[in-house]
Amino acid sequence: MQVLSVTPEIFPLIKTGGLADVTGALPIALAAKGVTMRTLIPGFPTVMGAFKNMGAFKKKKAVYQNPSLQGGKASVHAVQIAGLDLFVLDAPHLFDRPGGPYGNASGADWPDNWRRFAALSQAGADIAGGAISGYLPDIVHAHDWQSAMTLAYMRYGEAVGTPSMMTVHNLAFQGQFGAGIFGELGLPAAAMALDGVEYYGGVGFLKAGLQAAWAITTVSPTYAQEIRSPEFGMGLDGLINMRSSDLHGIVNGIDTAIWDPATDKHLVSTYTVETLKGRAPNRAAVEDRFGLDRDDSPIVCVISRLTWQKGMDILATVVDGIVATGARLAILGSGDAGLEGALLAAAARHRGRIGVVVGYDEGLSHIMQGGCDAIVIPSRFEPCGLTQLYGLRYGCVPVVARTGGLADTIIDANEAAIAAGVATGFQFTPNNGGALLHAIRRLTDAHASPATFETIQRQGMKTDVSWDRSAEKYVELYRLLLSKRVA
Ligand code: ADP
Repeated sequence: MQVLSVTPEIFPLIKTGGLADVTGALPIALAAKGVTMRTLIPGFPTVMGAFKNMGAFKKKKAVYQNPSLQGGKASVHAVQIAGLDLFVLDAPHLFDRPGGPYGNASGADWPDNWRRFAALSQAGADIAGGAISGYLPDIVHAHDWQSAMTLAYMRYGEAVGTPSMMTVHNLAFQGQFGAGIFGELGLPAAAMALDGVEYYGGVGFLKAGLQAAWAITTVSPTYAQEIRSPEFGMGLDGLINMRSSDLHGIVNGIDTAIWDPATDKHLVSTYTVETLKGRAPNRAAVEDRFGLDRDDSPIVCVISRLTWQKGMDILATVVDGIVATGARLAILGSGDAGLEGALLAAAARHRGRIGVVVGYDEGLSHIMQGGCDAIVIPSRFEPCGLTQLYGLRYGCVPVVARTGGLADTIIDANEAAIAAGVATGFQFTPNNGGALLHAIRRLTDAHASPATFETIQRQGMKTDVSWDRSAEKYVELYRLLLSKRVA
């Protein structure tokens, strides 16, 4: 089975969040099940850099050329990087820019993002329709709004008969643009309709994908239910309800080779479920890096975008209360300037008890998982969440809001779960400061009893967080879609 994945991000080449981890890990997990996944990604500078470093760029002929893709010349190169089979869309007029994948160095979105990701999608649909000689995917799998239009271009083009899947990693990002862009998308006039790409009078990229997809998946069963309600549906709950028979929730796995405390090169000290004491040097490294006092109190960490979605404002309101429990806080993240300021101010107020590093640091995030006692995730909504899965694997006990994938992946350490030996973390609901603080108190109480705490840590470390089961579910769905294809 040949699946074409179309995505704006893929680990390890280009990552702003969990989407990249998923699109990077899934092809490898699927290969073990006999599915070949090739991935179309934009030729961002880091991607082209990796490609050119291999010396392969000059020698490789383009497998697809388009003299005028959204205003400039574009080509697709087939290449293997980091064990991934990639189609790289080289379109310098769209992707060869400094800054991040979606905006300039100061974080402002590029005004032509609709054009950039329409181009990616158009190339995806062209490939689905046979534009690359010798390659015809059986299924096309799109991720989030940036590649959602692939399914719309397929629906109104050559590849209308090819089964398609739309995975929603976060419904909050929808790619909504004014009606004025429609004329430049290259779609037939009929597409500007309620059952096409039209969305509240403009053009909705994710909406178009949800409408055209043969199947819709999101990244946890609970989130799949939640997005059917107005509270979580973000304006798309009506459409999602209409399509509920094609909607599936498949929880993400993690790459257990990259995230393995026994071999992790980022760690100061590696360890296993049998050698938890090996976490101590990592803990000391966290204390140094975050300027925390050296003592035996638990270190609770945060590794997150600092945003409203992640509940970082809720955390900011109870930091004094957290310090009062005796716990220390190590916070790594960036995002909202106001939240960064509030957390830095908290660190200044509580020297030695709260440390903040503003920024994105993959290596440090590993050390934190390998050294801290707990990771707190107070998200208002969380499609799946990955940091609690890394926490499980590393014995960094998750303290999570009971929503989305956080609800599906953590077993709350209530008395019954502790007695049964199945507890893996702490959940709280409703998501407010009081409930969060109560959960941190439960954590510090448990931490005071080393035998109980180590049982929870070990139980988490033994949890299967690999891609194996989830990849199997994707394969089942791909098979179902193939069975619906008209011969
Ligand atoms: P989202 O994709 O919504 O941001 P996820 O939990 O699904 O949230 O994935 C976040 C990913 O980004 C995880 O791999 C996490 O470790 C990583 N991450 C988030 N913030 C940082 C940071 N400041 N430094 C390093 N890694 C980070």
